[in-house]
Amino acid sequence: MEAWEQTVLQASLGAGAAALGAILSALGGGRRKEPLVCSCGARMHSAGLRSKRVVTVLGEIAFSRSLFICPNCGNACFPADQALDMERTGFSPGVRRLMARAGASRSFGHAEEDLRIFAHIDVDRRDIERVAEALGAQIEELQARTPAAPLGELPPIPVLYVEYDGTAAPMRKGELAGHKGKQPGTDPKGREVKLGCVFTQSGCDEDGYAVRDEGSTTYVAGIESSSFFGERIYNEALRRGIEQAARVVVLTDGAAYNRTIKDVHFHGALHIVDLYHAGEHLTALMDLLRIAPSDRKKWLDWLDGGRIDALAAEAKQHLPSRGKRRKEAKREINFFMKNEKRMQYAEFRRQGLFVGSGVIEAGCRTAVGTRCKQSGMFWSVRGAHAILQLRCCILSGRFDAAWEDLACDRRVQCEVPAA
Ligand SMILES: [Zn+2]
Repeated sequence: MEAWEQTVLQASLGAGAAALGAILSALGGGRRKEPLVCSCGARMHSAGLRSKRVVTVLGEIAFSRSLFICPNCGNACFPADQALDMERTGFSPGVRRLMARAGASRSFGHAEEDLRIFAHIDVDRRDIERVAEALGAQIEELQARTPAAPLGELPPIPVLYVEYDGTAAPMRKGELAGHKGKQPGTDPKGREVKLGCVFTQSGCDEDGYAVRDEGSTTYVAGIESSSFFGERIYNEALRRGIEQAARVVVLTDGAAYNRTIKDVHFHGALHIVDLYHAGEHLTALMDLLRIAPSDRKKWLDWLDGGRIDALAAEAKQHLPSRGKRRKEAKREINFFMKNEKRMQYAEFRRQGLFVGSGVIEAGCRTAVGTRCKQSGMFWSVRGAHAILQLRCCILSGRFDAAWEDLACDRRVQCEVPAA
């Protein structure tokens, strides 16, 4: 059976490719109704047919189309390539779309294999890389020039959450010059990817725990300064309807630059230090103070209940009299005291809010980790940034819309005014 399947499939693809080639040749040649005018103003002349090979979802095909040359400036163009969205590329739009999706999901090598096995398309991994990165850059550019406003009417938004965090992605050596490692004096292993997500909550479950609206999470990411990223996450919040939301909650790890983004862009929002991150700080503090495992429950309960005053007072009692541990422990205690009002977890829960969503942790894994942090991956900043744009677009359920918008743009750009 499988042999038959394969034989018939290959025959159908072959017949389809031949038919497609004939259709494209019919479209691409022949007389034009309207004369073609060059950008210099002169009327272009037909210079006969030229053949082009292009990889399509039906396999590689050849078709011929008319070449036009300007007698005045020598400018050459293939109107059919523009009309068919295959200008300066050997891949059909359908193949480019698959290349981009495959390259966004897995390593370019795996993408090459996936396309061959699942779609019978033979393309080189370097072409997948080029196509996927170019599309990522175009998507970012499209988003930048589209006003950041909600698309259409939104349902009421009781609570809108904005959450952001950083995670490192491995980079090629040349991309790390001038950057510091995580610990002072160490070499950096990667560059920080900033990831943000926006999601909404309409209510709580019967036990009173906040429930995230299904399918409501969208993502943005970038390898960039926190001021650029602040703009990026703010624009995403605008697209998601922050201005219509009854309540806005910003969840962060409590680091200073994340507080700055909150202060600049989300002024009226409630700021909560994500409980997961607070828990990491508490563990670090208890380790520094050498708190016995049997005593730790009490500390964790204080944190969980938002009793930062009690926690800080107890921690101070355990401070060593001098040395490095004292300095580091004091820094951690300071972190809690500075963020006290953002750690009122019992109160936030009483209001039915998320105090630690896990959304950003999961997002760091799905949006960044599974694609950018596999062993043997070393990125350029530009390449990783572009692939992240593509991934966030896909994860946010916007890929098809962005693809259509970009295809539409290309059609508009290549409309040649007729004389
Ligand atoms: Zn010209």
